Amino acid sequence: MNPLVLSTWSFGPVANAAGLRVLHAGGKALDAAEAAATAVENDPTIDSVGVGGLPDADGRVSLDGCIMTDPDRCGAVCCIRTYANPVAIARRVMERTIHVTLAGDGAEAFAAREGFAPAHLLTPAARSEWEKWRNDPRSIDRDHYRGWLPPVNIEEVRTGRAREPSHDTVSILVRDTAGALAGACSTSGMAFKVPGRVGDSPIIGHGLYVDQHAGAAAATGTGEIITGVCGSFLAVEEMRRGAGPLDAVLVVLRRIVERFRLLPEHQVALIAVTPSGAWASAALRPGFHHAISDTHGTRVEAAQRVLIA
Ligand code: ASP
Repeated sequence: MNPLVLSTWSFGPVANAAGLRVLHAGGKALDAAEAAATAVENDPTIDSVGVGGLPDADGRVSLDGCIMTDPDRCGAVCCIRTYANPVAIARRVMERTIHVTLAGDGAEAFAAREGFAPAHLLTPAARSEWEKWRNDPRSIDRDHYRGWLPPVNIEEVRTGRAREPSHDTVSILVRDTAGALAGACSTSGMAFKVPGRVGDSPIIGHGLYVDQHAGAAAATGTGEIITGVCGSFLAVEEMRRGAGPLDAVLVVLRRIVERFRLLPEHQVALIAVTPSGAWASAALRPGFHHAISDTHGTRVEAAQRVLIA
């Protein structure tokens, strides 16, 4: 069977290359998903995942991540401040504990016991972005604690002159040569978030859901919105009921449009893969790209469908 790696945003090729290396060496989907996430986490030039991620409002980086192959095989960690690889730690949670999710100090103590090496996550570039934010009186609505909500010029995002601010999780879906599915999701969360905030990414069913019988889906974008509709779970359940992957992710996006009062800065995108290897990507707004690696090579492409053009 031909393997497939599908990941979010234009840094996806970093993830896909690492995932493909594992698959071509005979590795399983789970190993490929972890390797793909780790490669992005370790890249300090990517400011929304792992080392180099933008910090919270107090200037501290905190990372979230999860990994999954089936409802009874998943692990997650949140609010990791001193380790670079939340997805690898999440995998240990899955394999070595009876739990699914560890958070904060407990998750860090677990990582230390498991032998992970501590890392300094705040790079000079990320620190300087945080200083700019902190010194800009327009940056924060302090009364409502909304964090950084800069105005978005959709035209600039559409034409690539501006990137969407403050979110860009790497979500990865893999189908290996045996036809097994796995997924991983890793993020530093919303830039300049309220300290302690956890988004959708490490929450099973929200940022990621995988069921070998029904399919796999993963999300990126405004976590509070994805969480409100259990985005990835909903997409997988649609596939279980027979929907194709594109129709499944569009159900989630339409539900969001129906149930939220969306602001211009809100973006959500989803990717999905079926057990037979069909895949799709769609987004609420222009600007989202996925990276697909399959028999035709690796391409970075715009979402197949955009709901609010
Ligand atoms: N979903 C992530 C979060 O809310 C951010 C993102 O994907 O851009 O933490």
